[in-house]
Amino acid sequence: MARIVMKFGGTSVADLDRIRNVAERVRREVEAGNEVAVVVSAMSGTTNQLVGWCQSLSPLHDAREYDTVVSTGEQITAGLVAIALQTLGIEARSWAGWQVPIHTDGAHGKARIERIEGSELVRRMGQGQVAVVTGFQGIGPDNRITTLGRGGSDTSAVALAAALKADRCDIYTDVDGIYTTDPRMVPKARKLERISFEEMLELASVGAKVLQTRSVELAMKERVRVQVLSSFQDLPGTLVVDEEEIVEKEIVSGIAYSRDEAKLTVRRVPDRPGVAAAVFTTLADQNVNVDMIVQNISDEGMTDMTFTVGKTDLALAQAALADKRSEIGYADLLADTNVAKISVVGVGMRSHAGIASTMFKALAEKGINIQVISTSEIKVSILIASDYTELAVRSLHTAYGLDAA
Ligand code: ADP
Ligand code: ASP
Ligand code: MG
Repeated sequence: MARIVMKFGGTSVADLDRIRNVAERVRREVEAGNEVAVVVSAMSGTTNQLVGWCQSLSPLHDAREYDTVVSTGEQITAGLVAIALQTLGIEARSWAGWQVPIHTDGAHGKARIERIEGSELVRRMGQGQVAVVTGFQGIGPDNRITTLGRGGSDTSAVALAAALKADRCDIYTDVDGIYTTDPRMVPKARKLERISFEEMLELASVGAKVLQTRSVELAMKERVRVQVLSSFQDLPGTLVVDEEEIVEKEIVSGIAYSRDEAKLTVRRVPDRPGVAAAVFTTLADQNVNVDMIVQNISDEGMTDMTFTVGKTDLALAQAALADKRSEIGYADLLADTNVAKISVVGVGMRSHAGIASTMFKALAEKGINIQVISTSEIKVSILIASDYTELAVRSLHTAYGLDAA
């Protein structure tokens, strides 16, 4: 007998037939004698619609009210999954984040889980009741509902698995595992039997949506056994493991892309100490994360600064910088949402040279212009025009020898 957490994403609970399918999968685990907690996402498309409603009313809406709205999708699915289980004769009860409770910090819209009180769930699971828990949400220090950032149900599942001391955390989704790149974009992507925490963390942080970054961080820290697998087919999935457990290490293990960033250019700022601090402190004060940064060579004491921010933070970043325009002393602020970030990830980069040059060569051969570059120990990222996303990802997948045979 094991204690397991089963997480089902949006596509896996997209309609009532799929919810019945989820209930069947849960039944199998219960009938095998396991204690089960289920974590659910909103039905696919629901969260996007809710976010859209908030944005249509006001681009700079109150984050507390945003959370009140966007957290509701998960509550619907939790109730429906509980009903579907009960229909199969399985004892089940739904739990909203605040009922568990799942305590988070107060960063509405991107809250972090701080503590989960799991004792009541454990008691009931011990009596054979399946706990169906809403993903993506918790309760903040202000006693209001918080959400964990897009894709946050993965993090709810891993955090719950850690709190319940579960033997496994199974992430059921619409692909049958973690691939060398998004299999929906690159048909030649290869499924990985295992991937290291470090590589998955880096891939997630640069846009591989299959797991939310924070869920990988937590799994690594709390030693949670995470597996990604299909909710539609019975196939072995991908295990996320320690680097030492991977025998054959690839130089490049994966490629990811993100169209979630926007490029901002602060044109003609004075090239003197303190200017970068003024720009980036302005953004930090608004909780806007900055990703890639370049500063151009100065010309007559003036320079341009280019950087990327999340598209969802763009309006906030523009407003904050406009407020400080005379203080910072720039001439113009240009925004471009038509960009994509492509990243190549692999632990082998620590010991191999030439990874970046292969990338630049492959892109040059396709005539793709690179706008910004950034690197870390195990990653190279570039920013390009978003129209070239697919071409770039496919070319790089081939260039690094990742294509399936
Ligand atoms: P869920 O709703 O189940 O959480 P997501 O849409 O958040 O599902 O994540 C699954 C999707 O992640 C897949 O449909 C796939 O398009 C995408 N994806 C991106 N990169 C990868 C990758 N390297 N391996 C597998 N899937 C990936
Ligand atoms: N429903 C939320 C989202 O779409 C959380 C999740 O699915 O993980 O971002
Ligand atoms: Mg997801």
